[in-house]
Amino acid sequence: MCNSNRFDALVKIGDKPALQKIELSPANIDFYGCDVFNETAIRQYLSKGIAEQLIATINNGTPLDPTIAGDVAHAMKEWAIERGATHYTHWFQPLTSGTAEKHDSFLEPDGKSGAIMSFSGKNLVVGESDASSFPSGGIRSTFEARGYTAWDPTSPAFIKRHPNGATLCIPTAFCSYTGAALDKKTPLLRSIQALKAAVHRLMNCFSVEEANVKVTLGAEQEYFLIDKKFYLQRPDLIQTGRTLFGAPPAKHQQLEDHYFGSIKPRIVSFMTEVEKELWALGIPAKTRHNEVAPAQFELAPVFEEQNLSVDHNMLVMEVLRTVAERYGLICLLHEKPFVGVNGSGKHNNWSVSYGSRNLLDPGKDPEQNMIFLTVLAGIIRGVDLHADLLRAATCSVGNDHRLGAGEAPPAIISIFLGDQFNEIVERIVAGDRKASKKLEPMRIGVDALPPLPRDATDRNRTSPFAFTSNKFEFRSPGSSQSCANVNMMLNTIVAESLDYISEKLEKASPEAFNEHLQSVLRDIMKKHKRIIFNGNGYSDEWRKEAEKRGLPNFPNTLEALKPLMDANNQKFLDKYKVLSPLEMSSRYEVFLEDYYRRLRIEGEIASELASSVIMPVIMSEYSAAISALSTAASIKFKAGTKGIKNKATLLGVGIDAITDCCAVLDAALSEMDAAEIKNQMAKLRELVDSLEQIVDDQKWPLPKYREMLFLY
Ligand code: ADP
Ligand code: MG
Repeated sequence: MCNSNRFDALVKIGDKPALQKIELSPANIDFYGCDVFNETAIRQYLSKGIAEQLIATINNGTPLDPTIAGDVAHAMKEWAIERGATHYTHWFQPLTSGTAEKHDSFLEPDGKSGAIMSFSGKNLVVGESDASSFPSGGIRSTFEARGYTAWDPTSPAFIKRHPNGATLCIPTAFCSYTGAALDKKTPLLRSIQALKAAVHRLMNCFSVEEANVKVTLGAEQEYFLIDKKFYLQRPDLIQTGRTLFGAPPAKHQQLEDHYFGSIKPRIVSFMTEVEKELWALGIPAKTRHNEVAPAQFELAPVFEEQNLSVDHNMLVMEVLRTVAERYGLICLLHEKPFVGVNGSGKHNNWSVSYGSRNLLDPGKDPEQNMIFLTVLAGIIRGVDLHADLLRAATCSVGNDHRLGAGEAPPAIISIFLGDQFNEIVERIVAGDRKASKKLEPMRIGVDALPPLPRDATDRNRTSPFAFTSNKFEFRSPGSSQSCANVNMMLNTIVAESLDYISEKLEKASPEAFNEHLQSVLRDIMKKHKRIIFNGNGYSDEWRKEAEKRGLPNFPNTLEALKPLMDANNQKFLDKYKVLSPLEMSSRYEVFLEDYYRRLRIEGEIASELASSVIMPVIMSEYSAAISALSTAASIKFKAGTKGIKNKATLLGVGIDAITDCCAVLDAALSEMDAAEIKNQMAKLRELVDSLEQIVDDQKWPLPKYREMLFLY
């Protein structure tokens, strides 16, 4: 009884298929953004006056005049039809893991036995759909099933292609009949607005000339690729996105030979086609490389305005998945598809600019440093005060395998500044001479700071929140998560902190401004520098030290979600009009339910795989050993029985242990005891993985790690 599927897959992977060539040369960059209703298309398809209005809304967020919607819709339709579109959809981000779309054709019977293609202003601006099958956490009762999608003109419409045509996709926000947010985009947009207002207020304190605020995001996306022939034989991957069983291979990532290694032709061809599709969508995919774990890769775009960048990251994930299949590959976006090797994150590079000035750029002159240091202080304060909310925004069943599970970054939120900035903070604190005798006090805005080289910070791979030259890199988000939640929290906590500073500065007379600023920053740094940690985030000492400093440590999703229900936190997000207490509580419900549902799926599939896929193989091997032993005994034959006996014992003990473990797991599942489900799954895995190493390799029913991670 050989597992022929697994071996067929192995043989077929050996004969590498000829790689297909993509039609359009990616070197001809004229096609960049060809599938986006961008500025060029807007100017081409709309009259000058309307085009300028729409562009002002996109670039500066000026409110859109509703009377132009009809013209915009018409232009969009013409543009889309020329690109092969027959349908349109309001594209939105419900509280699930992905995006949602319901297509309507442009078709309209003309009443004279023919039809026309039509798309009205109303079709563009608002959609009404049954929201009852989307998670709402009890926000709407079943009798109020209506959900509304509202056009977000700041994220341009785009075309999604398929072999038989195309669909015009209109980015939208999704809310209930009462206006409560049912999606991730709405609170994100609200938070961007709050942060912009706070930045304007702060810049006003510094008497900086009025300019546009831009919140920017560059989301680095990590992912795994495995051959589809293996994937189809792994029910655990199909159902949960991660392997629930699999013994560690002799070689995994210990030779450090994958990171930045030369990229195999099949993979680099795949990456090129992904980039071609992303570039057509106006998504500036920039960097591609092999990541640390075998079969792990990364794609990083050039940073963009945050709302757009969040939408683009959702599309990046979709394009990675769909293009992978064309290459006989499966893209795994789960945070931890394979134990024993690195998991995947989504490094969230965040900054804010005012006009052409990046507020997180330390710059050369002290004037600018003053603003930089103020914003830096605001961020330090915000992250320290609201580390629990940042943590809450990153938790999920999948990310629990990264955060706080012995992998970068730890669950404890802290900030890495690097030596140079750390010293600056210490010197600001030392401005209070009594506090420190060792350090020279720093006079902000009076003493010139040394010009800072661009790479003033070293790299620290273990910090969850690292200052990297001119931006903060938040590394806790998981690879499959939308960036919307984390940035919504980040924007809001920084907005609140900048407001706190502005309120103090507004009280200062112009003559005393520097002095006043100095003392505000000193107070903030003194109080909140406990969140700064420049050492090794993996270490046990840090865990102890963080506890001493009073920093929160939420080791798993069940704990990490609780801050969403905290009354002060609810008041805080309500004050900034980002999430109402009702919306926040509903999100808590949705995320909690999602956690339990996913855990249940994992537990059930683990139990089923163990009982109906793995056990039969172990049992048949066990029976064969027992009959061999009995035959040998009946003919009084001894040679070879030692090995058979040993194996029969291991298999027999394993069969009993797996039987018991599955029974306990099943009981835990029926009680939905999360901790026990996790315990039993870990135990089951250990039992199965140890047997994988002794059962006849020809018969093992699941593709092994040494195959999936290395043969592609
Ligand atoms: P790293 O040093 O982490 O390898 P890069 O300097 O290449 O990375 O940047 C990583 C990501 O950060 C990219 O997506 C990049 O566009 C983005 N990034 C760079 N500057 C900013 C900024 N000012 N705001 C937001 N993201 C930025
Ligand atoms: Mg990075």
